[in-house]
Amino acid sequence: MGKRRPLVAGNWKMNGSRSESAALLDGIKKGVSSASKAEVAVCPPYIFISLAAKKLSGSAVAWGGQNLSVHKSGAYTGEISGAMLKDYGCTYVIVGHSERRTLYGENDALVAEKYGAAQAAGLIPILCIGETLHERESGQTETVVARQLDAVLDKHGVGSFRSAVMAYEPVWAIGTGKTATPAQAQEVHRFIRHRMEAQDKTVAESLRILYGGSMKGSNARELLAQADIDGGLIGGASLQAEEFLTICRAAD
Ligand code: PEP
Repeated sequence: MGKRRPLVAGNWKMNGSRSESAALLDGIKKGVSSASKAEVAVCPPYIFISLAAKKLSGSAVAWGGQNLSVHKSGAYTGEISGAMLKDYGCTYVIVGHSERRTLYGENDALVAEKYGAAQAAGLIPILCIGETLHERESGQTETVVARQLDAVLDKHGVGSFRSAVMAYEPVWAIGTGKTATPAQAQEVHRFIRHRMEAQDKTVAESLRILYGGSMKGSNARELLAQADIDGGLIGGASLQAEEFLTICRAAD
């Protein structure tokens, strides 16, 4: 970390009731001060975003969506557009999360389209990339990460990363309790930044690359201490205010 402002973003996934979400939002809001060095954001399920907007307006905590449609509006039952998220004050939207890629068949091309749709709506995409266990064990980590990154770079150009955040999330570490070692994570973060650097040094230096995959209060500090890890995308540990706040403090 250092020159880049750390970001800790909570991905709530499909969890929580309305009252649990309200309590979680209150707890997080109370624990984050505007003097914090790290930026903090939460990504609740769509249906709780208006609650987040109501609770977090004027606070130091930003909010965002977990997904968006590639379309602007129209006959797309069940979908939510970037403009709708923006209308509810979202700053961020997660794009290409591994659960979207594996469970909902989102391929690199669709993820790149969603990334563009997010930026067109004035949202900052948090672009997720990462390899599966099989890919890591067969030595394909860099090939896979490069392919996922290049799909977006080729379509939108390196300049688009001036208003984007990346998240390296090894699929084998998501929700499994298995965290990448700080050295394993740093190695891939370095690789991603190098690849950006080859196209634009300034963009590469200012780009925030978050780590995601079983990050929690007890392991956040050593992950966040790595030179190219600029924050975290937090799943399970973002559902408990105190646990999430411990990570936010580690990023401070
Ligand atoms: C995620 O879903 O982005 C994630 C990192 O989940 P977890 O922290 O639960 O591994």
